[in-house]
Order: sequence, then structure tokens, then C-alpha cells
Amino acid sequence: MGIVPTARQMINQCFRNFSVSTAEISKCLLLAPCKENFCKSVITLHKRFMKYHSNKFGHLPKLSPQEVTNILRENEYSQEFNSPGSVKSYDSNQLASNNPTEDARSEACCLMTTGMLVGVFDGHGGPSCAQVVAKRLLHYIAACLLPPDDLQRYLQSLGNDECIKLLEEYNDKVVLTEELSELYKNSFLTFVKELSGTKTSHMDFHMKEAMERAFLRLDEDISREALQDQSGRINIETLTVAMSGAVACVAHIDGPHLHIASAGDCVGVIGVLNDGGTWVAKKLTTEHNSDNRTEVERILKEHPPNERDTVIKMERLLGQLAPLRALGDFRYKWSRDILNHIVKPYFGENSLAPHYYTPPYLTACPDVTHYRLTPRDKFLVIASDGLWDLVSPLQVVRLVGEHMSGKVTLSPFRLPRKNMRISEINKMLLQRKEGLKKKPIDTNAATHLLRNALGGTEYGIDHGKLSQLLSMPEGIVRLFRDDITISVIYFDSEYLRHCPP
Ligand code: MG
Repeated sequence: MGIVPTARQMINQCFRNFSVSTAEISKCLLLAPCKENFCKSVITLHKRFMKYHSNKFGHLPKLSPQEVTNILRENEYSQEFNSPGSVKSYDSNQLASNNPTEDARSEACCLMTTGMLVGVFDGHGGPSCAQVVAKRLLHYIAACLLPPDDLQRYLQSLGNDECIKLLEEYNDKVVLTEELSELYKNSFLTFVKELSGTKTSHMDFHMKEAMERAFLRLDEDISREALQDQSGRINIETLTVAMSGAVACVAHIDGPHLHIASAGDCVGVIGVLNDGGTWVAKKLTTEHNSDNRTEVERILKEHPPNERDTVIKMERLLGQLAPLRALGDFRYKWSRDILNHIVKPYFGENSLAPHYYTPPYLTACPDVTHYRLTPRDKFLVIASDGLWDLVSPLQVVRLVGEHMSGKVTLSPFRLPRKNMRISEINKMLLQRKEGLKKKPIDTNAATHLLRNALGGTEYGIDHGKLSQLLSMPEGIVRLFRDDITISVIYFDSEYLRHCPP
């Protein structure tokens, strides 16, 4: 979700393009300001289009099943891990609505410590901040996890040819310009030097503080880089990163320990398989938006009572921003003075929100949750709100669960370990027989989720619906679906059954 005028403009433009009466435009615009009503108005709009203007969709290309599949699979990625650990593999995928997409993602294994990091980032006001955060945040977290000796060892290695790598990254396609890459490297180096100077002992380490520190420090660096160009000039590129924003959700999984840090409205859900064979969704994050009373109270407490009616207005921060925590978005963090003198000349009058008296109004500090994995926890799904707008956590868990049992039929039967009892093998074979009924089209679970979220009906996948949602013209499509980014991380039940606490 972005800023109010964008939503209004989109509805307006959409109606205009499909020649709907002015009365209908006004009705929808009245509904637009709050997120829930906005969704309702979009659904109404969708239904009306289908009913009365179906002929107008005639000009949209009708996609063949293969074309639909090609679009859905364009960004899919899978990674398996062979070394023993709680993470067996992961599937990811991304479907753009904005052009370019404002979502980003990154996954990596920590090389100097144990564990894996998976992040999903949902940008707004442009793609820059989300891309930059996806590129940098996991490094900041990895550095915060290092004990003092390793920080020293890492710093020393930077001076010689045998530079130690902190992360093994997967599917990283974002290429930064040389200038930005150098700037970011210097900021990171300064941070690591400071960390090595302040860290005292292993005993002081707390995962929550480490993750908070990484989020906040990257956010500070984004601010500093935008305001302090070495040559004294304003660098429009770094200023654009700081003026756009991104919500972030990052999981760190190490053996049975799962920590998930979230600032904003991405969601992380665990799929738990009960002894009775039913799937349960365990939500590990709470969205920071105006539906979250604790969050609203926190913000109201941070500002004087006379701002009570303006800090959160129309369910948005200062009447503009839907998520109540985010990285970047310095139009809600910097002083009035900075916004007036540095930002306004580049971004215009609107860069200062109405009723902007006591900044900062926004923080990048994440909520960090610890979860102890058990053999019943089969997978973790992290996704941007584009997915959750369409399907609930329980639906998502059931879809991935169903996909797991269906997917086994796509490969030859294999015993997971030696010395299995006949009864256990029999159980597996029965599960496999059951799975044959649900044999999925897609091997990638994130693609399976995309296909079902967009085309699912009570009676299965509706190709017409999928084709329509995937072939809408730019500018209109954002009304019906947001950018969607999904990562599904599979846990190794056998490992979790036997791993030490
Ligand atoms: Mg979104």
C-alpha cells in the first residue's frame, strides 16, 4: 500500500479508462482513503467490470495455459541444502504488479556463523529503498552476529587478498552502480569497525538486539548517505533511496532456533502438521499498521496530545503512509528544516506532510520473535502483503501442505533413512497414493501459491481468472493485485527430531 493520492489516482484513471459515470467515481473515491474500504471498493469495481463491462475486456489478450505458466514461473527459484541442518531447501517467486516491481527479496547462508537468513522487502514510493535494503540488510545482520574475535579476523582479511566472505547469497540479480557499491562498502566497513570496538564478550550476545541494531544502523546509513555526499553535493540517487521506503521481514534460522524480525506489514507463518494430520498456521509476525492497537498507542504516546487527531489519520501515518514502521521514508523521519531546505527543492512542496511538527514519526526498529522449531513445523512462508490480500495464513499453509504431499509424486519413491519399519514405509506409500490425487502443476511451492492465490476458486483453478489477472494493462493491474513476493522455507523433520536443544 502506498500513499493516498496514488490509490485515488488509480481508481480515477481506471474508471475513466472504462467510461464509468462520475457518480461512480465519486463513490469509489470516498471509499478510497482507508485500506479496508479501499479493498472493498476494488472488489466492487472488479465485480462491476465483470458484469457490465465484460465486452471491454475483449481487447485483452487471452493467455494460453502455457503463457500463464510462463508468466508465473518467470522469477521462480529453488535451492536445496545438502549439509545437515534444519533448513532442507527453499522455494521463492515474485510476481510484479508495479513496473518495475517495488518488492525485493534476498536469501543467504551465514559463512562465519551458522544459520541462514531469508528476507522479503516491500517497497513503496518507488523500488529504490527495497532494492538497496535487500542488497545490504543481510550483511548488516551477519556482522551483528559475529563474536569479537571473528569481527577482528574479518576486518584484517579486508586488507589482504584473501578477503573473507560473510554470506553465500543465492539468486542475487541486483547490480549496483560502481559509485553506490563503493559508498555502501565504506558505510559497512565503518559499521564493522565500530562493532568490533564496542563488542566485549560472547556472553553479551542477544539475537533480538543484534537484529534491531542491524535494521536501525542500515536505516541510519541510508539517511547519512543521502545528506552527506563527500563532495558536498546532494546525490539524487541516495536521496531517492532515502525518500522511498520499504517494510522488511527477515528470518534467521539456526538449528531449531528461528528468529524473525519484522518492521511493517510483511508476514511470516509456520506450517505445523498436527498428529491428527491437520495443518495449523502459526503466525510469527504482527503487522505494523493501524489495525494494530498496540502500535497505534505506541505512536500516539511518542507525540504531544494536540497531535492525537493528525498523527494517524484515515488509518495512515500523517494521513499518508499505511505501514507504521519502515526503513527509508525519511520524509517522516527528518527534521522540518532538512525537509524544507534539502528535500523540497528536489521533491517539491508535497515532500513535507501536513501536521509535521514533532518528527520522527516513523521507525525502522523491528519486532523480533523467537520460535523453537519442532519436528511438527514443516515450513515457514514469508510473503509481502500482496499475497495476504488474496489468501489467509491458513489457506497458505494448507496450499503448501497439499503441495508437499502432491509434490512427492513428481519424483521417484525414496526412503528418507535406513532401518525403517514396514508400518512406516506403508504409511509413506499410503500418503503417496493420497498425494497422487493432488499432483500439482508446479514443482515450486511459491509458484503453486501464486497460481492458487490468483486463480483459485471453490472448484479449483479458474484459467479465465488467471489469464485476466495476468494480462491487465499497466496502470490498471495495480488495482486488482499488488506486487507479490513469496519464500517458502522447508524444515528437515528428521534433523529437528534429533538435534540438540
Ligand atoms: Mg505490497
